Amino acid sequence: MTASYRKKTNWHPTDIELDLLDLFGRLERRPNARVERVRDLIYQLRGPCSSKTMHVRAELNDILKSYTWVRRVYQTADGYRAILFPEQEHRDELEQYRGVWVLLNLMERPKDLMRLRRCADESCRAWMYGGKKFCSDRCKQHAYDSKPENRESKREYMRRYYAEEQKRSLNPKCAVGFGRKKSHKHAL
Ligand SMILES: [Zn+2]
Repeated sequence: MTASYRKKTNWHPTDIELDLLDLFGRLERRPNARVERVRDLIYQLRGPCSSKTMHVRAELNDILKSYTWVRRVYQTADGYRAILFPEQEHRDELEQYRGVWVLLNLMERPKDLMRLRRCADESCRAWMYGGKKFCSDRCKQHAYDSKPENRESKREYMRRYYAEEQKRSLNPKCAVGFGRKKSHKHAL
């Protein structure tokens, strides 16, 4: 086992958030159906145990049969430590192992697992980790605009806006202040 190999495989996630964000970034760049499936299944297993999720658990356990870690004792700066390594040594599989490892780590901490989320905007559904509901202000705005009641009030606002615009174009000298916000008037 070479030093570079050891460096790549000897991971000890200390900050689950960084690990997950890193994983989501990797999956975006290089999708991996197996790791994504594990992520989907784990996401469904948040919260209390239920008979409804028995099949999810069974599928996850089935996938996990393919992954084996072994402990090896190494010298580290803090003395001898027993460290888990993937049994597979193929580079392609290491990427999968790393992803599965990060996700399984999350399962060991129920509170952290509840922080695994998807963007609440139905057209986005990006994977996130943390307390936020939306992945961006853009999604927050889009979700707000998509609500039927907000769509109607936006339509009404735009109707008024274009009516005022038309009035202004017919009589450019007439600086009609339009807008719900006071500051809008100064911006015109
Ligand atoms: Zn989003």
